[in-house]
Amino acid sequence: MAVIRQKQLRSATCGSGQSSPASGRGISRRAALERLAAVAALPLIVGAFDEAAAAPLNYSLKPVAITEGVWVLYGVPEAIDRNNGGAIANVTIFDTSDGAVIVDSGPSKRFGLSLVECARSLTGKGVARVYLTHFHPDHVFGNQAFEAQALAAPQGVIDGLATLGEDFASAMYHAAGDWMRGTELVLPGKVVIDGVEEIGGRRFVTTVLAGHTNSDLIVREATSGVVVAGDLVFLDRAPTTPHADLPKWRSSLEHIARIDAQHIVPGHGPVEDGFRGAVQTREWLAIVEETIREAFERGLSMNEAMTSPLPDWTKSIALARYEFERSVMHFYPKLEAGNWPRVDKPI
Ligand SMILES: [Zn+2]
Repeated sequence: MAVIRQKQLRSATCGSGQSSPASGRGISRRAALERLAAVAALPLIVGAFDEAAAAPLNYSLKPVAITEGVWVLYGVPEAIDRNNGGAIANVTIFDTSDGAVIVDSGPSKRFGLSLVECARSLTGKGVARVYLTHFHPDHVFGNQAFEAQALAAPQGVIDGLATLGEDFASAMYHAAGDWMRGTELVLPGKVVIDGVEEIGGRRFVTTVLAGHTNSDLIVREATSGVVVAGDLVFLDRAPTTPHADLPKWRSSLEHIARIDAQHIVPGHGPVEDGFRGAVQTREWLAIVEETIREAFERGLSMNEAMTSPLPDWTKSIALARYEFERSVMHFYPKLEAGNWPRVDKPI
């Protein structure tokens, strides 16, 4: 019975109407802009464009079962834009006898509401708890769909949201457009610390780490062995670094590599039974650090540094060049200020 149910759920879809399409991997910002420019240059298709824009925007959530009673809604391996509505990050749903437990709430109010419905259709119950892994907007702007007391995050995440949340909201409205309509910042009502929370027959082990941001929560559910790593782990999609502390990130990856895990859910990318995501993330961070430092020490300008060659293996990583360029923008000013400490070889 359980197996059949899982198989059926593999192709399940929550929600209907216009979906966020999982279009091509690795689309660059330039390509997106060129596409928009092409649309603007063709008055004949403006009518069709307007019609699409006027259609109701609904996230078509497709839960994938990863083990008994645990599903992942995969984010698309793209940058946030008006096609994907910001649904680029993974969201995890656990079934418990007290209700669904969700990790991360998605990019918008509209997504959060769809997520509640999706969790109900999977579990037949309401939502008992929503853990938030970190304060980045693709993970937290579905909060409005939930009671503040159901929303739980480390104090550092709550503080980060209180400080940066309004700026994130503006940026999201800019990038994702109408998908964000009605979305407002909602702060979690419960503080998560290192410990265990038992909910409806499951044990959620929470550990507060850092490195991707100043506060990154990982959640290990003991019964299933599922570890939700948030954005400390990326797989086959280049990591984002706007709030990164690379030494702390490296030691968090060391911590994750020691966890007894059956399945690891990265913040972005496919679920894996091993540690490929943690290893790949560590290698990416080493490339970013070494390549950018070398470019800086050779006296290259920021624009020149952005064109530095990347290793061949990164060709199969979605958004590799796009995120490398963004990392140059984040880290060059730190190098110029002399406050990007040199770190010995990665783990
Ligand atoms: Zn993310």
